Amino acid sequence: MNLRIPGPTPLPPEVLKAQSRQMISHRDQEFAELFARLRQDLGHVFQTRNDILVLVASGTGGLEAGIVNFLSAGERVLAVTIGSFGERFRDIARSHGAEVIELASEWGQATDAESLRKALSADPEIKAVLITHNETSTGVTQDLGLLSQVVRKVRPEALVIVDAISSLSSLPLPADDWDIDVVIACSQKGLMTPPGLAMVSVSRRAWEAYARARMPRFYMDLGKLKKQIETDGTHPFTPALSLFYALEVALGLIKEEGLEAVFQRHRQIGEFVRGRLEALDLKLFADPRYASNSVTAISVPEGVEAGKVLKVLREKYGVVLSGAPGKLRGKVWRIGHMGYVSQAEVAEALDALGKVLKDIPPSR
Ligand SMILES: *Cc1c(COP(=O)(O)O)cnc(C)c1O
Repeated sequence: MNLRIPGPTPLPPEVLKAQSRQMISHRDQEFAELFARLRQDLGHVFQTRNDILVLVASGTGGLEAGIVNFLSAGERVLAVTIGSFGERFRDIARSHGAEVIELASEWGQATDAESLRKALSADPEIKAVLITHNETSTGVTQDLGLLSQVVRKVRPEALVIVDAISSLSSLPLPADDWDIDVVIACSQKGLMTPPGLAMVSVSRRAWEAYARARMPRFYMDLGKLKKQIETDGTHPFTPALSLFYALEVALGLIKEEGLEAVFQRHRQIGEFVRGRLEALDLKLFADPRYASNSVTAISVPEGVEAGKVLKVLREKYGVVLSGAPGKLRGKVWRIGHMGYVSQAEVAEALDALGKVLKDIPPSR
């Protein structure tokens, strides 16, 4: 199958193999050494000197950790949303009792810096700003460097907490240069590893907030993880060892290719996808100015049955694309092009899409 969904992404053969290694004791030096190498390589990909904690959880678990460790119930939080993953982040904060204010933009658009400035200026009590770097539901990449700058200017003490799940290691995200307090990623997107690990980087400002934060936390307690690392270099709970093996190999592949080269490959494939869609007379769902280089949302043409096209693509051509969640269901197809991906694989998927659309002409 040519799996071209925005995660889980296909695994390189070396990563597939790494997972089949025998178990080791997670309390031994051998694990501590593996974990230390892994954190160092993650620091390179996260482009940060901040602590990086690893949780056994899907990306959403990482988002939850990014809320409960740094906030207290009743605290004011600004959720900057441009699609369904931003709404999920907002809802997590809300469900833990934060007083959430939402700055929502039209789906397909990015957040306008001036409206962020206004929202922050209007409320001096905002303690944290939640931003989705790359909104996977709409195929939009935010200008995160600019948005972070706005936060620093208007509310220097507010935390910038970023969902980087579909951007990290695919799109440039210099966390320290952009002064991002908390960056959340997970294993199964650009990091070319099976689902099951979430990673969270934590700045000094965020650790100060952690000391004050009162939302309940136990398994997701990042301070507990940090303490265990400082004690003996291990993990407080039994880590998913096979995923750690796999992640180490995947990070090695990224290092070998070079982070800049990986970004360049994603940029080039993103442009290629947009070019091919234009040739097929298909429209981007996103405003082209903000189109993502890791995932593309395609507007389903008028009169075309979105689900039927996906079904024929899979059954006749072995190509798996994704529909869209929530209110975009039936209106958008998504093609993932992050992680272990080449232009040839994406070309094959789009050629197949072109053929299917010719086979099943619009009913109107
Ligand atoms: C995939 C994704 C998530 C959710 O991750 P899960 O691993 O499914 O919990 C959250 N945010 C973004 C931007 C994503 O792309």
